[in-house]
Amino acid sequence: MATRVIPPRILRKLRYNTATKPFQPSLSTPTLSPPCYLDQKPPSTTTTLLPPTAVADLNFHDVEKLFSYVSTTKLLRSTAVLHATAIEPMVDFGTWIMRSELMQTNNPLRNLALSATRATFYDHFCAGEDATTAGQSIGVLNEAGLRGMLVYGVEDAMDNEACDRNLKGFLHTVDVSRSLPPSSVSFVIVKITAICPMSLLERLSDLLRWQKKDPSFDLPWKQDSLPIFSELTPLYHTRKRPEPLTLEEESDLELANKRFLELCQKCVQANIPLLVDAEHTSVQPAIDYFTYSSAILHNKGENPIVFGTIQTYLKDAKERLILASKAADKMGIPMGFKLVRGAYMSSERKLAAELGYASPIHKTIKDTHKCFNDCSSFMLEKIANGPGGVVLATHNVESGKLAAAKAHELGIGKVNHKLEFAQLYGMSEALSFGLSNAGFQVSKYMPFGPVETVMPYLLRRAEENRGVLAASGFDRQLMRKELVRRVKAAVF
Ligand SMILES: Cc1cc2nc3c(=O)[nH]c(=O)nc-3n(C[C@H](O)[C@H](O)[C@H](O)COP(=O)(O)OP(=O)(O)OC[C@H]3O[C@@H](n4cnc5c(N)ncnc54)[C@H](O)[C@@H]3O)c2cc1C
Repeated sequence: MATRVIPPRILRKLRYNTATKPFQPSLSTPTLSPPCYLDQKPPSTTTTLLPPTAVADLNFHDVEKLFSYVSTTKLLRSTAVLHATAIEPMVDFGTWIMRSELMQTNNPLRNLALSATRATFYDHFCAGEDATTAGQSIGVLNEAGLRGMLVYGVEDAMDNEACDRNLKGFLHTVDVSRSLPPSSVSFVIVKITAICPMSLLERLSDLLRWQKKDPSFDLPWKQDSLPIFSELTPLYHTRKRPEPLTLEEESDLELANKRFLELCQKCVQANIPLLVDAEHTSVQPAIDYFTYSSAILHNKGENPIVFGTIQTYLKDAKERLILASKAADKMGIPMGFKLVRGAYMSSERKLAAELGYASPIHKTIKDTHKCFNDCSSFMLEKIANGPGGVVLATHNVESGKLAAAKAHELGIGKVNHKLEFAQLYGMSEALSFGLSNAGFQVSKYMPFGPVETVMPYLLRRAEENRGVLAASGFDRQLMRKELVRRVKAAVF
């Protein structure tokens, strides 16, 4: 590998551009409202469009320009780590170790495994052990023209105690984001599964599904929401009429509502949008319910503060997106969506098969690609002509190119902050820098937290995203090309 063949003498001589990109003047002014993610012009019913020349084509050929903000050491390490994560047995072995008994007790082997992970996988994919260190990582990204989405890395909560603990972490994340240069943090991320017990999310989802089957089914606790289901949504998770919430469950729901409200209000005060992650379909109806009812309370004018997530690998994704958007328009609520393909493909297929139903996931990956691209197109047209926001969260270069071309055609670029592209921290650097160089706002999704807490979350992601990690080949190829260029420049 490249790490073994380049002598330190040459490495020291390697040049890279450490100059910082000029900060966008329109972004450097702190504002209270609208949120810093969004257009800072006075609210109007139509969006001011950029002249088409303000955004350039996506270009991956000029690797020198593409990686001009990445140090040689970082390029070398990224190439090595991405190589390792593309090797399936390595991912299998890592996952096995992290989930083994060995990691449950304090012993020298556990400490060794954690140190090795920290120095490699963790350093590459995580932003730091705490919010303050993550803030510093965002500073580095920001100098390279990218922004950060801060993700407090926690697993699902099983009880109220864990929910309260997690809420403190999310609130602290907003405080840290607020203390960073304006607009360097595009979003704070929340997992509803970390602030509402999983068992309650399952119960709420069952009740909401049953109401979809039988509209006369009364849900006294239900607040105003946008449509959660479409006619295509499978309801097989709930096979018999669920019992109403018990008094204890009602009280737990009140606590969960209070937690989410506190977080939303903190984001409104800090002027930082909150992005709700999507999870399994078994709990997603309840997650959408929390998201939409809070969006109705907090999203005002042109600018969403609460964003939901649509997983376009689901057959009903496009219909649900259109239904929720139209309902939001009718209510005068600016709605924001993050579009992803979806990370739970195997477990969704397995559950549907076990229950004897067709999978909720598109039949082929081509159908998923089409659905993602159609949904992107729908949202781009929507934000070009009215309120709302969209985050296109993908590593797929073709989807990136298509969306960039469409945004270009519609005149949407950096000045129109209603569009954000996003990739996971440590993934798809070429796409991130390519989009940024082409004039778009780009964020990295940055999990942070102590190595023990974040590693299971990252390994789960690695496992779910095996295809993505293996697909990092495009990135590795471009990185290798730039490394060779730097070596040649240093030697000759
Ligand atoms: C910023 C960011 C935030 C994210 N947030 C979430 C989130 O909140 N919830 C969530 O679930 N995921 C989330 N993800 C992960 C995401 O859903 C994808 O797993 C991951 O990004 C890979 O998809 P891709 O768009 O990069 O495209 P690609 O790598 O081109 O496509 C891979 C994806 O295609 C789909 N797919 C693969 N094979 C098939 C098949 N045979 N049939 C049908 N579909 C197939 C799967 O969704 C797979 O992940 C996020 C990703 C990013 C970058």
